[in-house]
Amino acid sequence: MEKAAQENGHSMIIPTISQFNRVNDADMANVIAHYLDSISHIRDHFLGYPTNLDFNYDALVQLLRFHLNNVGDPSMGSSFSLNSNPFELCVLDWFAKLWQLEKNEYWGYVTSGGTEGNFQGILVGRELYPDGIIYASRDSHYSVLKAARLLRVKCVVVGTLISGEIDYDELKESLLANKDKPAIISLNIGTTVKGAIDDIDLVLQSLEDCGFTQDRFYVHCDAALFGMMVPFDVGAPDISFKKPIGSVTISGHKFLGCPMPCGILITRLKYIDFLSSEVEYIASKDTTITGSRGGHAPIFIWYALNKKGFNGLQEEVQECVKKAVYLRDCLKDHGIGAFLNKFSNIVVFERPQDDEFARKWSLANKGNISHVVVMKHVSLEMLDSFVNEFVKERCAWYEGNSNRQMQPPCVAEDIGAENCACAFHKILIS
Ligand SMILES: *Cc1c(COP(=O)(O)O)cnc(C)c1O
Repeated sequence: MEKAAQENGHSMIIPTISQFNRVNDADMANVIAHYLDSISHIRDHFLGYPTNLDFNYDALVQLLRFHLNNVGDPSMGSSFSLNSNPFELCVLDWFAKLWQLEKNEYWGYVTSGGTEGNFQGILVGRELYPDGIIYASRDSHYSVLKAARLLRVKCVVVGTLISGEIDYDELKESLLANKDKPAIISLNIGTTVKGAIDDIDLVLQSLEDCGFTQDRFYVHCDAALFGMMVPFDVGAPDISFKKPIGSVTISGHKFLGCPMPCGILITRLKYIDFLSSEVEYIASKDTTITGSRGGHAPIFIWYALNKKGFNGLQEEVQECVKKAVYLRDCLKDHGIGAFLNKFSNIVVFERPQDDEFARKWSLANKGNISHVVVMKHVSLEMLDSFVNEFVKERCAWYEGNSNRQMQPPCVAEDIGAENCACAFHKILIS
């Protein structure tokens, strides 16, 4: 069997499929064992993405003996009886209640992730306003622009403030410039890179100020990560359907910590009539983007929500935000420019110069910046060891450089001059 060194230094056996012969169980077990070893090692250094890796679903292992498929509209069920429909409905009820939408006024489903939720939310907006224009900030997740492209809707990309929030003035200008067309606005409740929360109230006020009545706009809220945080953080802005918003989506594998990608989309029931073509073959309505939908995910979400409870989630949010503050302060104490938004667990800092270092910690880079997303599995020990290694390596990248050509990148435009530790701005933070 072929062994290959992985980028993180661990070796794994490259999986192959024999063209003609069966492979014996022992050989396959060996491949799996090596793979487990390699992913366990990655998990122990996993800092750059918003997936919570601290979970235990051993109680649900028996479910893997079943095929579960929630094809069709969850509110109707389907004739495919090996489904987890009751769990899905119960999960949807929970989220509708969380976002203050009555049981008989919401519609939604468990999606394959935040991307599908964005797609479906924006689709609802487009169907309501076929001649509408999509507005999304520059810091929106790439799935929002993809949705605009796939739906062939004109998309106005609005600039952002240093925090990563949408530039409210620029949005207003764009709205005024396109007053004759309905507005489909995709807001970020936590941007992917900087964890910035767009101010829903301010945007709704801007719409009103620009003369957009409620029958001329649709607001979709992309709350992939923060949708499971802000409701449990005292003082954080509300996501609520008491406001004239159209849809909200979250990812189930981010803060909540499902082992497989999944998500939730909730919108208003009155909007989905247009999607309701009946399909005899499944005895349901074809309201969802995907056909077959995994039936395991709703059960995992149900399990996680019950296991944690409101108080558990509250504690987890507090803990993550506290550790994020700790990391930001540690970096700053070591002279590394760092930035953390309010209510956020995403610490933004200068991009490390060494790709191997970035890979070891699974960091996500964007231009001159990089970030750590402090999820539940991220311990203080992990953060300490990350900072120590960063500081040590950074010396080698910059100070060990005899001709001094390599300098820490200037990140003033990304996180503000006061948070930048480049040669020019360093004086400001010291
Ligand atoms: C992660 C993320 C998404 C995409 O979610 P997936 O579950 O990966 O499809 C969308 N929007 C934001 C803001 C995200 O952070």
